[in-house]
Amino acid sequence: MKALVYLGPRDLKYMEVETPEPKADEVLIKVKAVSICGSDLTGYKGESAMRVPPLIMGHEFSGEIAKLGENVKGLKVGDRVIVETNLYCGYCADCKAGFSNVCDNRKIIGTTMKAGSYNGAMADFVVVPAEKIMLLPDNVSFNAAALTEPLAISLRATKHAGDLKGKIVAVYGAGPIGLLTMQCAKFFGAERIIAIDIMEDRLEMAKKCGATEVINSKDDVMGFTRKITDGVGVDVVFDAVGAEETVNGGVEIVRNGGKVVWIGLGAAKVNFDYKHAVCKEITFYCSYMYTTEMREGLEMIKTGKMNVEQIITGIYPMSEGPRIFEELASRKSKDIKVILYND
Ligand SMILES: [Zn+2]
Ligand SMILES: [Zn+2]
Repeated sequence: MKALVYLGPRDLKYMEVETPEPKADEVLIKVKAVSICGSDLTGYKGESAMRVPPLIMGHEFSGEIAKLGENVKGLKVGDRVIVETNLYCGYCADCKAGFSNVCDNRKIIGTTMKAGSYNGAMADFVVVPAEKIMLLPDNVSFNAAALTEPLAISLRATKHAGDLKGKIVAVYGAGPIGLLTMQCAKFFGAERIIAIDIMEDRLEMAKKCGATEVINSKDDVMGFTRKITDGVGVDVVFDAVGAEETVNGGVEIVRNGGKVVWIGLGAAKVNFDYKHAVCKEITFYCSYMYTTEMREGLEMIKTGKMNVEQIITGIYPMSEGPRIFEELASRKSKDIKVILYND
């Protein structure tokens, strides 16, 4: 089969590799759509410990079942599916406590974890455990289905903030996770959603995703949010960037006693305005991956509560992957969410 193989920093090749065989409890999936995640780009640039070459990346995908392992029941060749990509162990203390998203024994499809690498979906085919498969409703396209995973990330983050009815919310970062967080915040009843980003075309997209106002981070974000909230500050901040500027910006613009949800993995370390945060009695939440949210997210897509497809700005054949990755990594491309497909 053909696959996009990550061979080293900025070295991605579309090349012939051996087609994987499903073991007894596994399924071979013909990949139909796989989206490029920000974490894949970090990996491509050689800046992620979670992408060790040689590796086939791709953890946001959909496809059709091509072959079943001998023990697999209840599925058939041709079924349209997505896959829960977090392959947690199920028996460790974290898994038992409901935190399968941080299980130390887990592998994640398309990444490298402590437990090892697992080849992902940027290929003609990918092998997955049968128990991780979710059947796609007929009305969910392969492209929309591929975005169930990032939606799950945003959904979990939004749930951390509790009841959003009537709340004023700010979201740092109008990339895919920020945009889907805006959609979730709107769905959960936030009254006003302020999108903050440095790129104007992303702010335009934010308006389609539920942002009631947008502000360029080059401008006076603090003054803008103060004006909207009569000097009080916003109720909840979602940080889908995770840079020093946004982490401290969140402390500034949130109201006293407000909530800040950290999702973005931008910086490993930041110089944090600790004392200010304590004196405002801010509650911080960290949100990482998902546990049950892929299933919930698929249901929301199916019932039309989420329009994930609208954030897709580019759809390209898998063979163009090397060029697309380089353009995204060097910021030559203005695409927000990219889908790679197999014919
Ligand atoms: Zn991702
Ligand atoms: Zn575990």
